[in-house]
This record gives sequence, C-alpha cells and structure tokens, in this order.
Amino acid sequence: MKFADLHLHTHFSDGTFSPEELAGHAQRLGFAALALTDHDSVEGCTRMAEICGAAGIEFITGTELTAEHNDTELHLLGYFVDTQDEKLLADLARFQAVRQSRIREMTARLNELNVPLEAEAVFALANCKSPGRPHVARALVKAGLCRSLDEAFERFLKKNRPAWVPKARMSALEGVELIHQAGGLAVMAHPGLNRTDDVIPVLVDAGLDGIECFHTKHSTATSARYLEIAGKFHLLVTGGSDCHGFSKGKPLIGTVKLPYEHVEKLKSRVASRRSKPEIPH
Ligand SMILES: [Zn+2]
Ligand SMILES: [Zn+2]
Repeated sequence: MKFADLHLHTHFSDGTFSPEELAGHAQRLGFAALALTDHDSVEGCTRMAEICGAAGIEFITGTELTAEHNDTELHLLGYFVDTQDEKLLADLARFQAVRQSRIREMTARLNELNVPLEAEAVFALANCKSPGRPHVARALVKAGLCRSLDEAFERFLKKNRPAWVPKARMSALEGVELIHQAGGLAVMAHPGLNRTDDVIPVLVDAGLDGIECFHTKHSTATSARYLEIAGKFHLLVTGGSDCHGFSKGKPLIGTVKLPYEHVEKLKSRVASRRSKPEIPH
C-alpha cells in the first residue's frame, strides 16, 4: 500500500532536517509522496522537489500559515501552491519580517529577566527567514541558560510565560484566499490541537478544501471525529506527522502514514479547479 506524509518542516523554518535528510528518512520509511509545509515559507520546496524526484518520491509544494478567527489561533496548510506566485512571496516576506521582530521582543523580555540571550544569537542559530520559538529555546540551551528545550518552554516561552510574545496572525479567511490565489488547496491543520471546530463551517463557506484528520497528536478518536466532520462538509482528508526533526524532541516522520488515495483526491481537486475558467463575480 502506498502512503504519504503531508506535514513536514525543514530548517527553512523551525525543523532541524535539511531537505536531503528529510527525503532520506522518507525513502527509508517507504513513503510514496511528501509535502513540505514550512511555516511562512516555500523556500525549501525547489530543493525538496529535486531531491524527491531523484529518490522516486512524489513531491507536493506547501506551506503552513498562522491565522486566527475570533481570537482563536489556527494553522492553515496550503498545498500545491505556486512557489513563484508574486503575492504569496510578498505576503510570506511580510510574515517573516513580523517573526523576526517577535524574536527581538522575546529576547528583550528575556534580558529584562536577566537572561542574557541576544536576538542575533537566535538568528544565527535559526539561519532561516522564518525564525520561531523553537529557535529561541535551542539558543537558550546552546548558551547554557536552560538545561533542556522543555525547560526553556516551561520557564519562558510557553503561552503566558514571561518571555512569551503573542504571534501576529492573519485572518483565517485571508489565509484561505491567499492560498487559493496562489493556485493551492487550503487545509485546516491539526484541528484537534487548536479546538477550532466552531470555525470549520465559517471556513467551509470561505472555500476551505480540506482538513488534517491524521496528525501525530490526534488520538484515534480525534481522527475519527474529524473524518466524520470531513464527510459532513465534503472536505478532503489530509494527514502528516508535523515532523520538526530534533527541534521538538525526536523526529516524528513515520508516525502518520496517510493512505495514498487521499493524495489522489487532492490532485484531482487541484486539476479540476485549474481546468475551470475563471468565473467573474
Ligand atoms: Zn501547526
Ligand atoms: Zn507544522
């Protein structure tokens, strides 16, 4: 049976694996298809596509956006996006700039707590355009200011801890629209983690294409619940490990194996959308 992992991060955001390492793991585990979903970035997609091509693995472009609806944070996965789309690239560059100022705010708060971590140390370690909290945690450990990533999050970085800074978020409706205008399919990520069920009908009205039913942190019951919701709203079903390499503990690739039939459904949805003429409204 063929299977896929449609939720993966590399060092182009807060994962630790290079595209080569990630594809290597996927090949050993026998994956037929992968999607790369780095936060606010499509930068790794070109290299990932080449490597997957050489390894005989089907590759799907993607990104993961942070959005909100009525003060609830949710993540949107954009699949099959055109990685050269100008509006997408301009908006991603804007989100990346916001991420960088958030890192500066977090290190300023740490400094006020007499934790001498500089923003530049985080940027040097992150070495990417989409730095995030896991990079701050790793920089704290590397500088000997915390003993573990867990400690860094528990003491400083978790929501409502003293160095936590809220993330700037786009509206979920804008997120769906951005993904669509770049030719992609918009999918709600890990709904079981964000408690975002109320938002689902709203996003369905806005054109949401799918929902991530299978995720490392979804229990069997949670997956079953979202499969039922997907059926009710005629949403496509996706799944992935949300592997970040070693930046959030141990690598998760292999924990979710999405049956390939779901990839086929995603592909036919994209193909039918692209073959339709634009309807003016
Ligand atoms: Zn996420
Ligand atoms: Zn993710």
